[in-house]
Amino acid sequence: MPIKQLLKRSAGWLYLNSPLGRRQLQGAGVILMLHRVLADDQAAALPHRNELCVGPLAFGHLLFWLKRHFDCVPLMELLNNPGNADRPRVALTFDDGWRDNALNAFALLQRHRVPASIFLSTDFIGSRQRFWWESLGETLWGSHGDAPRQQLVEVLRQMDLAPPQECLADPDEQRRSQALAHYLQTLKRLSPQILGQLTDACPEEPLPQAMDWHQVRAMENSGLINFGPHGASHTILTRLDDQRLDQELRRSREALDNGCQQPLPVYCYPNGDHDQRVREHLTEHRYPFALGTGAGLYRGHGDPLALPRFGVSQRTASRPELLAWRIARGARA
Ligand SMILES: [Zn+2]
Repeated sequence: MPIKQLLKRSAGWLYLNSPLGRRQLQGAGVILMLHRVLADDQAAALPHRNELCVGPLAFGHLLFWLKRHFDCVPLMELLNNPGNADRPRVALTFDDGWRDNALNAFALLQRHRVPASIFLSTDFIGSRQRFWWESLGETLWGSHGDAPRQQLVEVLRQMDLAPPQECLADPDEQRRSQALAHYLQTLKRLSPQILGQLTDACPEEPLPQAMDWHQVRAMENSGLINFGPHGASHTILTRLDDQRLDQELRRSREALDNGCQQPLPVYCYPNGDHDQRVREHLTEHRYPFALGTGAGLYRGHGDPLALPRFGVSQRTASRPELLAWRIARGARA
């Protein structure tokens, strides 16, 4: 293990197990951000998946560890009663509405009795609409075979977006995956239309990427899972004009009102991006809370429309002391 990582893990362990660390965390709320729970830990560990994916072993390990150090509570309990608990509290959130949340995460959450909130990009739920970074990433990785990969590379070349050679040809799997992760980041600047065209150039997966409304209702009926909006189309809200922003907020609210018993009054910004104009629109749409992606603890003060979260990756889920180290840094911020 690299020495830097060892030091971080030791510091993280110390933080949770020292009087000073425990005092800093007293009454604090930690909101964690996850995306996907894959069926396989090794697949989740590759750099181009690591940030957004965890495997079942790592996720189970994380839940076990969280229960030892925190009270695991529903998000609304954490938001409505800040600062009056002895033990630090943690609330889990999942972004996007991936089908694997229903297929892989839900059973583990039930087994450990840990509540969670899932934020849905509502256009995708119950449809075959696809998230571009998943379709492009896996097609370029070769998960669907060599011919579809070549076809996509050709389309990208024609659009002057050819991926660098390391993404495709590096014989070292880790390095190739790292290069792919980097390349996918650079595509975020493209318009939704272009990204849609590129996604259409990728082969269909056997199952829809997103969950359907039956799965939403079944999970909500368990009493363990709540749902809230994460955009309708997952377009980054700061890029929309006023009219389209209102449409996006309204459409996602209506879909949740139709599909759930009790949608959360919490918005979750796609890609974490928001500005003053977006926050004003959220207030007009009667959302008292919204989740960003800045790291930090929740203590009931600060802007409720820019709530901090700590992202969880396969790396931090399998070594939660690394997460503790990041929480310690967030507590000082
Ligand atoms: Zn998202």
